[in-house]
Amino acid sequence: MATLKPAKNLPCIFNSIVNKYPESQLVQCEIKENQRWRHASAETAMNKIINLAEYFPELNLSFDFLTNYSICEKHYNQIVVRDSFLNQLKKVNNLDSEESERKRIKLSDNNNSKLQTFCDFGVQVSLPVCDFEVQVSLPDPENENLLNQINKLKQLNKQLLSDNRELLFEKKQLLSENEILKKKLNSRFDNQQDHVKAIIIIAKKERDDLYSNITNLIKDHERFQLDSLLKFSPSQWLIKQNPVLVNFIKTLTYNENENQYDGEKLFKCAVVVDIIYGIRHLKYVSAINLAASAIKYSIARSKLIIDIDNHFINFSGYIKFIK
Ligand SMILES: [Zn+2]
Repeated sequence: MATLKPAKNLPCIFNSIVNKYPESQLVQCEIKENQRWRHASAETAMNKIINLAEYFPELNLSFDFLTNYSICEKHYNQIVVRDSFLNQLKKVNNLDSEESERKRIKLSDNNNSKLQTFCDFGVQVSLPVCDFEVQVSLPDPENENLLNQINKLKQLNKQLLSDNRELLFEKKQLLSENEILKKKLNSRFDNQQDHVKAIIIIAKKERDDLYSNITNLIKDHERFQLDSLLKFSPSQWLIKQNPVLVNFIKTLTYNENENQYDGEKLFKCAVVVDIIYGIRHLKYVSAINLAASAIKYSIARSKLIIDIDNHFINFSGYIKFIK
């Protein structure tokens, strides 16, 4: 058995192929003085070299002479220690294979018509060859699937465009209707006739509530308390009355030169509400008349005054003050 020469005296096995494959990212050999050299024939290095031969065919020629080669420190670190270099080569190679396969299919598709013509024309050509060629030129199922999807999407797009046109038309119609309604809304109170119509609608809606407000007021016997009658305040009384009626009267009788609604005007408003209550409910006892009688009674302490009041104002609901 021949003695193995020291590794540092042998050439790096990758030195001769570095420049041949610049795209492989194979680095240049290490040239520094003090570096480690390994034998290319060592088991780990040899295994890597066998794998690399697939991508660097020159290495095949060196298989029988590995003992004549070493591996420099740089290449040992790049190729033997790590797997990344070999993995990268595999990856690039796979991509290349896929690209070639695609080109081959395309070429096959392009030639399909030519082949077909050839088969049709050359009756004497044996059938198995013809079948084989036709089989090869069949469209890729994945391509067919993609074409189907494209067709479906085109169909969907067409439908969406049509829907969009309909929606635009509807939008135009609605905008036009909206414009008409706006004009109607803005001119709904343009004349007194319209005001009468509106007020009748509101009054009809409020009539039942007004009646029930008055009924509740009649049931409230506290209002016959002499003390509270003597403290009668139109503003406080109005706050508790039917808000639609009160606001209608206040708004209708508002004068622009007045800052606020108070004093005599407020009292007159209370009188109007009080009278309307009396018109709406026959058993309603006027709050204003009660207060007036209470004041007279508190001064004269005479039942006769109350009787006279009753006689003049048909004060039938009233019986006596509660002290
Ligand atoms: Zn080297």
